[in-house]
Amino acid sequence: MHEPDPALTRLLLDLVGTRMGLAEAPLGRPADETELRASLKGLLGPAGNNPAEVLRRYTEQIEPSVISCDSPRFLAFIPGAPTKAAALFDMVVSAASLHGVSWLEAAGAIEAENQALRLLADLAGMPEQAGGTFVSGGSAGNLSALVVARDTARARLSLDTRAPLRIAVSDQTHSSVANTLRIIGVDPLVVPTEDHRLTGAALRAALLADQAAGDELGLVIGVVATAGTTNAGLVDDLAGLAQVAREHGLWFHVDAAYGGAGLFAPSLREKYRGIEHADSLVIDPHKWLFAPFDCGALLYRDPRLARAVHTQDASYLDAIHAEGDAEWNPSDYAYHLTRRPRGLPLWFSLAVHGTDAYREAVEHGLRMARHAAERVARTPGLELVREPELSVVLIRRVGWSAADHHAWCARLLRQGVGFLAPTVWEGETVARLAFVHPGITEEAVDQILASLAR
Ligand SMILES: *Cc1c(COP(=O)(O)O)cnc(C)c1O
Repeated sequence: MHEPDPALTRLLLDLVGTRMGLAEAPLGRPADETELRASLKGLLGPAGNNPAEVLRRYTEQIEPSVISCDSPRFLAFIPGAPTKAAALFDMVVSAASLHGVSWLEAAGAIEAENQALRLLADLAGMPEQAGGTFVSGGSAGNLSALVVARDTARARLSLDTRAPLRIAVSDQTHSSVANTLRIIGVDPLVVPTEDHRLTGAALRAALLADQAAGDELGLVIGVVATAGTTNAGLVDDLAGLAQVAREHGLWFHVDAAYGGAGLFAPSLREKYRGIEHADSLVIDPHKWLFAPFDCGALLYRDPRLARAVHTQDASYLDAIHAEGDAEWNPSDYAYHLTRRPRGLPLWFSLAVHGTDAYREAVEHGLRMARHAAERVARTPGLELVREPELSVVLIRRVGWSAADHHAWCARLLRQGVGFLAPTVWEGETVARLAFVHPGITEEAVDQILASLAR
């Protein structure tokens, strides 16, 4: 199994070459479980199979049943759209079995990842000592960061582990934060939003009201701001929240998993004012920064605090900590240990294309959102739910029920026109388009909107 195998190598590289050569990835389709199970049956057993035959099952059964996130017509949820350079370099990371646990084992990979993290930290305006690691995504980043928020507060205030704690969030905060709080045993203080944005004023008012009510519910030790809500692409009042966090000694976590890419767009810079004060920041390059899955960037303003919480103590790990603080061990900055250096595809692609190309690709998503918004305003039967701030557009189809929206999305997918998913806004089911892929055209958007209005 470990001998060089030129025929196998050629077989797989040809497949990759074909895929990389497609002008537009096929959208794909959902598949039936019984059919899939039957079509893959019999491959796994004591004896192996001809690789060409196994690969045929992949290309005929598996691949088409995975909706291509890198199709420009994937407009549901938050799409991914890896550059060719990033996607191909991901293959290099696998082929070389690169890993990225400790400086001792993987110095070069970690240095390249850290330079990519530095670039993101600079865009956000974080200080020189900021740093962190790449994790599997926003969920892992939020969890790792909020554990540091919790344990830093406990240490600073000499609280024992039974003292109840809370972290302020809004009703627009990503579901992964609710999961995180449940996992780490911290309750949410849900702050009401003004027009779906969490503001400093609202946080201050909520803290005041809360103090009056007494604090048996738990000390509030942090706040989660969202820079680009997943549902509507709204950026919270980061500067205001940072200010209130400072006044009240709260950990200021910014979840920019989707919206962080907007830091590349000068036209948006003002919206992100205050992000530079983040104690921890999450940006998912596998969303709007054109890296393959899975890749989330996690940065801390003071990485020493993360080290104090996440460093794993085991006698067989002493070797990787021999140099103390001098060496950068990614395992010290999140709850992981063994990890793929998943920041390398981003690093390679950034180095190959330059940040100007990234700025332009991010701006394309913003232009598509504006185009869709203008088109909706001119189309009878369609209404804009609100002006898009980033690259997500919410559209009301006058007279449609939730069932109509779901049926329309299913039809678009069947016809290969697009993959969309409805969402709910203030109790109402609406159409939602999320633009990430630089290959989506105004014509494709017009086609989709025309079918919505029909
Ligand atoms: C997508 C998203 C997450 C979760 O990120 P994963 O990479 O899917 O784990 C968290 N927060 C926000 C705002 C997101 O958009």
